[in-house]
Amino acid sequence: MHDLHIHLGGAVPSSVLWEILCDNGLRTEYVDFATFHDSLTARADDVKSLDDFLGRYFQVTEEIQSSPSAASVSAYQVVAKAYRRAQVSALELRFNPQKRMRHGLHTMDAIILAVMQGLERASLHYGVATGIILSLGRDLSLESNWQIIDAAIKWRSRGPLNGANGVVGIDMAGPESRSLELSKPWMSEVSAMMEKAREAGLKITYHVGESEATGPDGMLRVLEEIHPDRIGHGIELRNAVGKTRDALVTLLRENAVCMELCPTVNLVTRVIPDYACIARFVRDLADNEIPYCINTDNPYLIHTNLQREYEIVGNELGNDASLLLDLGMEHAIRHSFIKA
Ligand SMILES: [Zn+2]
Repeated sequence: MHDLHIHLGGAVPSSVLWEILCDNGLRTEYVDFATFHDSLTARADDVKSLDDFLGRYFQVTEEIQSSPSAASVSAYQVVAKAYRRAQVSALELRFNPQKRMRHGLHTMDAIILAVMQGLERASLHYGVATGIILSLGRDLSLESNWQIIDAAIKWRSRGPLNGANGVVGIDMAGPESRSLELSKPWMSEVSAMMEKAREAGLKITYHVGESEATGPDGMLRVLEEIHPDRIGHGIELRNAVGKTRDALVTLLRENAVCMELCPTVNLVTRVIPDYACIARFVRDLADNEIPYCINTDNPYLIHTNLQREYEIVGNELGNDASLLLDLGMEHAIRHSFIKA
């Protein structure tokens, strides 16, 4: 199975983060492991929104991962755990290097190299194909995002070594609540960034339509201006109507843009009311010949793994579950940024 949408900030076991925290002598408010573990468990009855989710957990995990040694150990453990828990055979790990530099104490090059080295060890030890997606941030300045693009090009994959690749793609992530996708000047600058990355051989994925803040209109702007290879979530397509829905369905199908679905995180962030909603969405995508795949997003914050995410959707799908899940797995292979 392939996990194409998984964040370094939400995919490392709390035990590993606790050990890094203690070994590095970081001063925090956490008095013991139990308190720490509890604080890194996201529950649907506690999380208020996507913004709340992103703001509450990632600051802590990103701070702990902000050194080359911590970033390397974290990347290794993501792959090791995904393989042992869910037999994941290919994993594209995404992270924002700017958020792991400890306010300029470390260089972006050192952090990216450390993640690459962690993934190389994991690929060698577990036989998992790996690649890196660097996430830009809606909450970062344009200048900082340009620096990530330049770093991605510098560290781009030159082909796999023992299954490990360097940077294979670019992502856009961060809070959707400012609806930046609806701002013309911002989108034109981001479009230029993505174009530069694409010309250097990198693939593009983009978090959009994860909540109503970007919604169907944001998705349409991204499809028309960024031309991504994949969309992160895009669950808001289910609320699109009329001409907007027709345009979205046509663009997604004709350009074969793969939708990266992450069921449990959508439930935890209250974007969807129940898993049946995701199952209906999968059926709608299949009916309209739009590619989709199932992923974990932040498996340790929401206590899941890839096997479980497929099972959850399968339980809701009913009779043709295996057909629709197999299709999702095929799409994940076909739309992976990692070259075989
Ligand atoms: Zn995500």
